[in-house]
Amino acid sequence: MFNSALVNRFRQLETPFYYYDLQLLKATLKVCADAAFKHHFHVHYAMKANFNTEVLNTIQSLDFGADCVSGNEVLAAINQGFKSDKVVFAGVGKSDKEINLALDRDIFCFNAESVQELQIINDLAAAKGKTANIAIRINPNIDAHTHHFITTGLEENKFGINTWELPVVAAKLRQCPNLQFLGIHFHVGSQINDLTVFRDLCSKVNEMQLWFQDEGFKVKILNVGGGLGVDYHQPDQNNIVDFESYFQVFADYLQVNEAQEVHFELGRALVAQCASLISRVLYVKNGIKKNFLILDAGMTELIRPMLYQAYHQIENLSKTDSLKVRKSESLEDGKIQSEELTTYNLQPTTHYDVVGPICESTDCFRTDVELPESERGDLIAIRTAGAYGEVMASGYNLRDHVQSVYSE
Ligand SMILES: *Cc1c(COP(=O)(O)O)cnc(C)c1O
Repeated sequence: MFNSALVNRFRQLETPFYYYDLQLLKATLKVCADAAFKHHFHVHYAMKANFNTEVLNTIQSLDFGADCVSGNEVLAAINQGFKSDKVVFAGVGKSDKEINLALDRDIFCFNAESVQELQIINDLAAAKGKTANIAIRINPNIDAHTHHFITTGLEENKFGINTWELPVVAAKLRQCPNLQFLGIHFHVGSQINDLTVFRDLCSKVNEMQLWFQDEGFKVKILNVGGGLGVDYHQPDQNNIVDFESYFQVFADYLQVNEAQEVHFELGRALVAQCASLISRVLYVKNGIKKNFLILDAGMTELIRPMLYQAYHQIENLSKTDSLKVRKSESLEDGKIQSEELTTYNLQPTTHYDVVGPICESTDCFRTDVELPESERGDLIAIRTAGAYGEVMASGYNLRDHVQSVYSE
């Protein structure tokens, strides 16, 4: 991802910053769109993954909808050019102010997460003389087999409505004249790489839509959420997710009739690989049995490792002297049969705990990372930082807000 011209450009810049490869973002969006639209699936971008203006602009221009989880996200999506009839609003705790704001903007749909919320949306819509479109977020009680901090679809999680409450939901919907039931919504968790989880989800969706139909409701929208994972270990080899296989699972296992639409809410899979956090080594410090690489970026710029033990690839961009050897096999007539390029790192390496400058012991990106021997001033890239990176930056320790730099 980083050629020498780019590293030279980085050398001129103050660190830390997020570097966005907008070409990779566009390529990813195109692959996703082609794979989804083939099945007439609709994709709403889960903007909490990254609401950087350039990123939003790029995604909006490709005709994706927006999945929002706060009133400000609804406003930002619309200001950024997303059409309000392609904006959905989810979230377990929508405030009255946020609901009113979304009603005023005539968004496409509220994904409701409790019986009480249904009543409140109904009352606020009634006060405006409006009808609110509703999808019921159902907790499918499916284990996403991902880190327990990022599963959302189990009964013990706070999200969604548990299936045993659905009779009460149905009764409530019948009593609320200012709610228009559109369909059902699910979201099982995040960073899911095991596609059988989505197959299980399809069975659950099929079961639940039948339940609503038996109750006399027309289920127009099947919203299966997001959660598709990316490869944090091999960002260059797998820089674009296999969207084809992902959507095929739903095409194969979801029961969809002519009148229905299938909606997705992808966040991470669209934006994770397009950004890296670039920082500099401030100090190299020897600890007991350990060496620390102290960076000028920390948990205030990228909190994922500290918040949910997330793994990120770490590279020293200043020590890339390597030997590329071209090995070729030739046939008897001299024609080259196969050629492969192998890279040998010529630098001696050391193991480091790569840490930030913040006054917290958890401010560590990774322990025991094998890197070329590094020194003050070296540029360090923390890869696959486009999702839940910049958006979670904080001002703790009164740090400067992290900058963004874009591909040219
Ligand atoms: C966060 C979220 C998503 C997106 O999740 P990713 O793992 O980033 O794809 C989709 N839907 C809802 C309701 C969410 O909260």
